[in-house]
Amino acid sequence: MAGRGVHTGHPAQVRIVAAAPGSGRCFVRTDLPGAPVIPVSPAALRPSVLSTALEVRGVSVQTIEHLMAALWNAGAQDVRVELDGPEVPILDGSAAPWVDLLGARSCPWVGPPLRRPLVLREGSSWVAALVSQELRFSCGIEFPDPIGAGWVSFAVGRGSFRDEVAPARTFAGRSEVERLRASGGLRGGDLTCALVFDEGRWLNPPLRFADEPARHKLLDFIGDLALLGAIPRAHYVAFRAGHRLHGRLALALARGATGAPPAG
Ligand SMILES: [Zn+2]
Repeated sequence: MAGRGVHTGHPAQVRIVAAAPGSGRCFVRTDLPGAPVIPVSPAALRPSVLSTALEVRGVSVQTIEHLMAALWNAGAQDVRVELDGPEVPILDGSAAPWVDLLGARSCPWVGPPLRRPLVLREGSSWVAALVSQELRFSCGIEFPDPIGAGWVSFAVGRGSFRDEVAPARTFAGRSEVERLRASGGLRGGDLTCALVFDEGRWLNPPLRFADEPARHKLLDFIGDLALLGAIPRAHYVAFRAGHRLHGRLALALARGATGAPPAG
């Protein structure tokens, strides 16, 4: 699979290679000397607002979230993602091309149940992991028109990630796009890789779902929690959240929030 990174504008070719059982998941930067390896882990998260990036010993890979969600849905536990650039291609702004590449297999990687609830806040945004019998993800959004406010929910084993979540594309306001471009970012972005709105209307309709932006938030949330590998069975809720808060939740869960409550 080949394309451009939306933020860096760099072209990259991605090859997804099955790895030996037990070897885990990693990115390999084949464009750099020695082809350095970046193991997938919340501990490798590099702070980033607009996309999710991993960095190990100064080597990074950016905008991994849509691919991570697709790999998680496919149950890919041992996989090398080889790419010859710093950023995963944005493609159509959704995870659908990755799901198609990985095949029809849907085998979400579900971990043991969460034991204790967890809530993290940043201003008016928050994320929560709630004790639940099913693995469910819910996202609430609140934006100006034409996006508006609303929420969506997806439960593993009930809905179809491939049909209900993966095709939802990323979105941005035209003023934000222009601001990012002026500061040297968003070099690979155009109207084919994102829904763009301006003055209360979409510039490139039709939408794939009436609530496509909320569904995309759900995709990002799943992709960021997928850094954990197996996602503990719980109900994950995000409200007005983004990659930074998602990443904080993944880190907190990785640090043992799933463990049994302390004695006494
Ligand atoms: Zn996204």
